[in-house]
Amino acid sequence: MRKTLIAGNWKMHGSKASIEALLNGIKQQLDAAWTSDLLVCPPSLYMDGVSQQLSDTPITVGAQNMSEQEQGAFTGEISGDMLQDFGVDYVLVGHSERRSLYHESNELVARKFAKALEQGLKPILCIGETLEERENGSTMDVVKQQVDAVIDFYGDRSTGLNKLAQGVIAYEPVWAIGTGVTASPEQAQEVHASIRRYLAETKQTVADTIQILYGGSMKAANAEQLLAQQDIDGGLIGGASLKADEFIAICKIAG
Ligand code: PEP
Repeated sequence: MRKTLIAGNWKMHGSKASIEALLNGIKQQLDAAWTSDLLVCPPSLYMDGVSQQLSDTPITVGAQNMSEQEQGAFTGEISGDMLQDFGVDYVLVGHSERRSLYHESNELVARKFAKALEQGLKPILCIGETLEERENGSTMDVVKQQVDAVIDFYGDRSTGLNKLAQGVIAYEPVWAIGTGVTASPEQAQEVHASIRRYLAETKQTVADTIQILYGGSMKAANAEQLLAQQDIDGGLIGGASLKADEFIAICKIAG
C-alpha cells in the first residue's frame, strides 16, 4: 500500500508576512485524522523559519533544488548537507523550470538525485514532456530517458532501480505546469501506469512501491478525480499551494 504525499512547491513566491499568513491559514485547518504525508517547499531563504513555524504540525519541509556538489567554491549554491543541517527532509530535483530555464540536463539531475540520497535527503525526481513532445507521440520516450538517467548513474540497472525507489517520482507534464491546463485524470493515469510497467520490466517490487505524484495545475476542483486514479499517489502543487484554503482542500481530499 503506497502512502499519499501532498507537496506544495511555492517556487519564488512569498515574503515573511505572506508566508506567516499562509502558514497560519494552513495550521488552523489541519486535521489530525489525515494520514497522508504533507510537505511544503518554500524558497530556501525561508525554509528554516517555515520549519520552526511548522514544528508542532505533521507538515515537513523540502527544498526546491540543491547542488550536485558536496561543498566548495560554488557561489550561490546550497548543498544537501546544508539542507540536512536545517532539518529539511525532501528536495525537488529536475523541476521543469530548472530543466528549461537553467538548462539542467538529465545527467545533472541524476547527479543531484544521487547526491541527495547520499546526504540523507529524499529526492523528488520531476519528469515530464513538453506539449510538442506529447503531440509528436514521444511522451514515454522522454519520461523513460529522464528516469533512465537516474538508474544508469548507478551503473547496473538493479542497483539503479533500488536507488530510484528511495526517492519519489513526480510526473509533471510541462504543458500543464502553471498554465491552468491540467492533464485529464485518464491522461495522467496512463503515463503513471506506463512508468510502473517500465520499472516492472526490471523490478516489480520497485514498480509496486515507488510513489508517483502528479503535478500540473492541480487544485481543489480537480484533485479528487486525479487522486482517485490507481497509480497516482499524491500531488506536487504549485499555484494552489500558495492559498491556504486550496491547499487544505487538497489535503482533505487526500485524507
Ligand atoms: C509545479 O510547480 O510543480 C506545479 C505543478 O505548478 P502548478 O501547480 O502551478 O501547475
